[in-house]
Amino acid sequence: MKKLVMKFGGSCVRDGDTIKYSSQIVKRYLDRGSRVIVVVSAMAGVTDGLLEALKEAEKGAETEIKKFVGELRRRHREACEKAIDEPRIREEVWVSEEEEIRELEKILSIVAYLREATPRIRDYVLSFGERLSTRIFCGALMSQGVEARYLRGWEAGIITDDNFGSARPLTTLTYKEASKRLSALLEKGITPVVTGFIAATPDGVITTLGRGGSDYSATILGAALKVDEIILWKDVDGVMTADPKLVPDARTIPIMSYDEVVELAYFGAEVVHPLALEPASRENIPIHVKNLFNPDAKGTLITKTAGGDTVKALTMVKNVAILLVSGIGILGPPATGAKMLDLFNRIGVQVIMLSQASSQANISIAIPGDTLEKVLKAIKMEFPEGELKFEYEKGVCVVAVIGSGMRGKPGVAAKIFNAVANEGVNIKMIAQGSSELNISFAVKEDDGITALRAVHRAFNLNA
Ligand code: ASP
Ligand code: MG
Repeated sequence: MKKLVMKFGGSCVRDGDTIKYSSQIVKRYLDRGSRVIVVVSAMAGVTDGLLEALKEAEKGAETEIKKFVGELRRRHREACEKAIDEPRIREEVWVSEEEEIRELEKILSIVAYLREATPRIRDYVLSFGERLSTRIFCGALMSQGVEARYLRGWEAGIITDDNFGSARPLTTLTYKEASKRLSALLEKGITPVVTGFIAATPDGVITTLGRGGSDYSATILGAALKVDEIILWKDVDGVMTADPKLVPDARTIPIMSYDEVVELAYFGAEVVHPLALEPASRENIPIHVKNLFNPDAKGTLITKTAGGDTVKALTMVKNVAILLVSGIGILGPPATGAKMLDLFNRIGVQVIMLSQASSQANISIAIPGDTLEKVLKAIKMEFPEGELKFEYEKGVCVVAVIGSGMRGKPGVAAKIFNAVANEGVNIKMIAQGSSELNISFAVKEDDGITALRAVHRAFNLNA
């Protein structure tokens, strides 16, 4: 008997119809004899909506809050009606939903009164998205005769630190609690239906795992229960060789390694939450990314080893700025590099790539364009005038070329840069991670798509 975790992301729970359809997929697996733990995200757009509502509340905009809550109520009421056929179950679910929506409204008006939301209050407010969607999902399953149990993340055993906004599970405790609580239900033939994204501290204060964190909830539970497979249902056929909006002949990648997916996610490809790979890879549990709207397609299987091609996937990070630091002679290059990285770390700026020429005394650092101002300000405070020279360039993008097959294989870089050069595109900066899992380079933003397509073609990724 197979034990599975199945996670349904925002687009799978867009409305009542998709919730019902998602629950039918679960039922199909149950009927085939699998045991399933279901993890559900907020309905599409709801988390963004809650963040927006918080912003309005901080401005004291009571009428905006009323409007938001009204729309939220309408949307979930409609979802209840469409997703849950059995009237008794539907009414029961709706009574609890209304109670929760009232609670949300209360807390939003408190924020409007205080004109301030602390990180702890933000997480509390954000938790309503998953609480509202998951209960409806559970009702939809029950309505089909499945014995299902609605559980909030902490009730399923996910206990975290109090780093609000990006809390991390207390692993030992979480594994112990989750496996105890969920196994007990599974053994009785009950299907747990768990809110993704949200958890609580040991004291019961609600936390969230960071945006897109439902994937993480799914793999935490999968690892704790040592399931056979984790299926992440999405609205795409799996992980693609490139963003199909940018490269029209992009294809689905059949098999990838955990490392490759982490690398891809690091460079901004929104496939699987990067943290979600860790629990799965630790317990060596395969993750299957599948398309809910094309369930018979193979999707992408993510496992420990992924052999295969030299280059698997490309991704592009837009709106990047390059900071050029020179005059390093004064401090010596290692000290400057370390000092810069320490500074970025302290002000919370992610370094996308970094390269240092050993002969010339300078380093280039690529950072998200919208952090440039903050960085320049911090540099002014940190480095005495004249010690170092800082220049910057905006309107740049970074293309990352990813694949574990290029490790130790000569000629890959040459092939990439030839392909780009043949298009007459100038490369501004190059870096290769020491893992040799990726080679990334920066070009002018306007040249990004040309470079991306050229590399995609050069490695026959459309074949
Ligand atoms: N609802 C949360 C978000 O939008 C978590 C998730 O979708 O995975 O970030
Ligand atoms: Mg979401």
